[in-house]
Amino acid sequence: MTNQLSPDLTRILVSEVTIQQHVWELAQQISADYAHVERLYVVGVLKGAFIFLADLCRQLTIPHVVDFMALSSYGKAGAVSGAVRLVMDLREPIEGEHVLIVEDIVDKGLTLHYLVEALQGRQPASLKTCALVRKERHHEAISVDYLGFEIPDVWVVGYGLDYAERFRTLPYIAELNPSVYRA
Ligand code: 5GP
Repeated sequence: MTNQLSPDLTRILVSEVTIQQHVWELAQQISADYAHVERLYVVGVLKGAFIFLADLCRQLTIPHVVDFMALSSYGKAGAVSGAVRLVMDLREPIEGEHVLIVEDIVDKGLTLHYLVEALQGRQPASLKTCALVRKERHHEAISVDYLGFEIPDVWVVGYGLDYAERFRTLPYIAELNPSVYRA
């Protein structure tokens, strides 16, 4: 498989099979934890989480609704993430709902922190977080309730994650060759 990898990618960090296995395990755990609630309110963070969210939600065995938020970091892809800005808000109030934020990747945790603060203020019945991957250098600072993988501190693409809108639909998570963003 490695010899078919695009020269824009250095290596596969998480294979398609491993992703699917972990998504299934996360869905099982979330379904068990929320088995007692009337419905789970799943908040997907665009754009990066849309593929993860689609796979995760289709494996949930509990009643749930889906809504989206879009955030933008002032920093550029491949560079340091900066201040967070709300680009698109939820359609409905979440007061009294059991809310699960679904993020693609947690790096410094600025985005997740912003979201938790923003949504906590809207009086949900409960609020938890789920992320597909977290960069291990920040693992102590940022707690995530449901986490798929820890990865090294490199720029990754695939399974929803992009670089300048490229590579999002790869079925695996791969390290981007630094020559792509240094070019
Ligand atoms: P944080 O706010 O945790 O520092 O950064 C989170 C956001 O930065 C993610 O939602 C994502 O948009 C972007 N990000 C951070 N690291 C990566 C990465 O390795 N690959 C991609 N594609 N996006 C990343």
